[in-house]
Amino acid sequence: MVDKACRRCHLITDKSVCPQCKSTDLSDDFSGIVIILDPENSEIAKLMNISRKGRYAVRIR
Ligand SMILES: [Zn+2]
Repeated sequence: MVDKACRRCHLITDKSVCPQCKSTDLSDDFSGIVIILDPENSEIAKLMNISRKGRYAVRIR
C-alpha cells in the first residue's frame, strides 16, 4: 500500500483514483501532510481550498 497525493485537490489516498475529485493525476512524490478535521473552522483548509476533512499533502512534485 503506497500513499499518493492528488495533484488536483491534494488529498492523500492509497487508491489509484482520487476518491474526492475522481482525478487519476496522483503522485507518490509529495511532502508535508496536513490533517483537516474541521474544514469549516480551519484556516489551513481555507488557504488550501479544502472543504472536506481528510489527509492532504502540502507539496506535490
Ligand atoms: Zn483529488
